[in-house]
Amino acid sequence: MLRIAVVGSGPSGVYTAQALLEQRAVPGVTVDVLDRLPCPYGLVRYGVAPDHEKIKSLQQNLRVTLERPGIRFLGNVPVGDGPGALPAALLPELYHAVVYCVGAATDRRLGIPGEDLPGSFSATEFVSWYSAHPDAAPGGFVLTARSAVVIGVGNVAVDVARVLARGADELRHTDVPHAALEALAESRVTDIHMVGRRGPAQAKFTTKELRELGALPGAQALVRPEEAELDPAWADPAGLPSAVRRNVDVLRGWAQAPPRELGRRIRMRFFLRPVALLGDDAVRAVRFERTVPDGRGGVRGTGRFEEIEAQLVLRSVGYRGVPIPGLPFDVERGTVPHDRGRVLREGVPSPGEYVAGWIKRGPTGVIGTNRSCAKETVASLLADTRALVARRPAGDPAAALRSAGLDPVEWPGWLAIEAAESALGARLGRGTVKIPDWDGLLTAAHGKG
Ligand SMILES: Cc1cc2nc3c(=O)[nH]c(=O)nc-3n(C[C@H](O)[C@H](O)[C@H](O)COP(=O)(O)OP(=O)(O)OC[C@H]3O[C@@H](n4cnc5c(N)ncnc54)[C@H](O)[C@@H]3O)c2cc1C
Repeated sequence: MLRIAVVGSGPSGVYTAQALLEQRAVPGVTVDVLDRLPCPYGLVRYGVAPDHEKIKSLQQNLRVTLERPGIRFLGNVPVGDGPGALPAALLPELYHAVVYCVGAATDRRLGIPGEDLPGSFSATEFVSWYSAHPDAAPGGFVLTARSAVVIGVGNVAVDVARVLARGADELRHTDVPHAALEALAESRVTDIHMVGRRGPAQAKFTTKELRELGALPGAQALVRPEEAELDPAWADPAGLPSAVRRNVDVLRGWAQAPPRELGRRIRMRFFLRPVALLGDDAVRAVRFERTVPDGRGGVRGTGRFEEIEAQLVLRSVGYRGVPIPGLPFDVERGTVPHDRGRVLREGVPSPGEYVAGWIKRGPTGVIGTNRSCAKETVASLLADTRALVARRPAGDPAAALRSAGLDPVEWPGWLAIEAAESALGARLGRGTVKIPDWDGLLTAAHGKG
């Protein structure tokens, strides 16, 4: 009999719980899945874009696991330090082992002047707003900007550019929070510049996501051929790996397309490295240095500069893990050091402590990548069973959490949030509409919604 805590209910946490339950080597394993939020599913709920309904529907698969006997969801339980948090050091007293699946919750910074000017935001802040994350800044976004710059050419950059480019009518049927929908309806954005410091063949987006930008009803995606052809692969992409070649083919098609009379333009820009955000009281432009290929897969600066006007800047240059107080942390990589999922303390595996998902591997891969990652961690944990069963965790963890002053939201509480979100949508004449604030979520969870 093993009692395991999984901290984090995103894909890696749920896949870890599933792998623990489905293994046959150790009978009688029970799993508590803890999350700092009262809602499960991590970035599938709070990151995947609302108009990606098929990927969003993965929540249903994760739900099946969280509803299995032997697994218990305990939301509203932040693990860490600070007021109202559960110290990580307490978990070994309550469980035989703990698997940290806390993701990579913060953004990488550009480290350039003007980055914090009003009007400049991380893509995460924008994503959190349209995803109704309860930690999103309360005022939300007022989209008075005419020109927006998205810095970065990965899939998250594509998501935020696409949401900016869509009209509110295209998002009304999704679960996007109502205030965000109204702000998008009032948006004055006409030009969205998506800018990468390298060339089309080095961009990180995937072709499916890229193609979607070219198929929006109210926006045209544009590429400047004279800029893209700085990339040696532009003229003849035949030698590129197929996934990259498809991207270049899509971009070449856009470069040749005649202009259309649509309300918005998505301008794909390449070989521009941001050097400063300009403005006095608020951002008014981004200054870039023109780069060129250095012949080794990278780029070098040319000493030539150009400015792109922007009243809104969304920075999308990657994610980083956040240290959990009490756990070792590799500051360079933004991950917890591990050996096949076993947490390493000063290079030595620490029995009973494991990691899976983005906090283990860094922020790469698709949702499914977390499944094999979780399986590897669970295999390590099961191999340690003999050492783990020797521990004698104290009574019921949920009761212990309550006496530590926490107020866990269990599965019925989450179901009450879901019901309140359906009722909110019905009142607004929409489908399910997400509740965007802590008060609303906790009130609903406690059946007072
Ligand atoms: C904006 C965005 C869009 C994406 N879109 C797609 C997509 O369309 N398709 C795709 O395949 N992949 C997509 N991904 C990638 C995918 O979301 C990740 O691969 C996946 O979510 C990583 O899983 P995880 O469980 O490691 O982390 P997360 O999903 O981040 O889950 C971590 C969980 O831990 C909880 N947590 C964090 N800290 C604590 C703490 N101290 N105490 C308790 N709980 C804590 C969090 O609340 C969260 O629920 C996207 C990622 C982002 C950022």
